[in-house]
Amino acid sequence: MATGRDLDRRVAARVLGRRPGAPCDGEIGWDYGYACLRCEATWSPDADRAALTPHPWEPPPYSTDAGAAWEVVDHLQAAGWGLVLALAEPGLPLEVAVVAGPTIRGVGPVLAVFHRGARHAQAGAATAPLAICRAALEAAASGAG
Ligand SMILES: [Zn+2]
Repeated sequence: MATGRDLDRRVAARVLGRRPGAPCDGEIGWDYGYACLRCEATWSPDADRAALTPHPWEPPPYSTDAGAAWEVVDHLQAAGWGLVLALAEPGLPLEVAVVAGPTIRGVGPVLAVFHRGARHAQAGAATAPLAICRAALEAAASGAG
């Protein structure tokens, strides 16, 4: 099972239909080093700024950031998929969110279930963004991005 940036790239390509590595001509800013303001590409402070445009597009951290994971949820919702999130923490009642709001609680073991018609795609993980990414790949693999 892919994790980290490899998983983020797979989600970008297979779920969102974007091409990691494709040329990006986003504006270059500064954040303890050079950083693209459009994608997640970063460089060290001593990089040659003039050589950074264009650069390979880097996807947002879908599998580790709740805001980025919600882009994946929005995309699948637009394609007709609903989402049920189940979050279980020891000692606390099971929390189930049906098509949750703009934030995701990224704590405790999480089950994410995308559903469309009679089909569903689900995955569990330690955090909501990771569960969403894994379930989204399952949904995309079922033939409906
Ligand atoms: Zn960029």
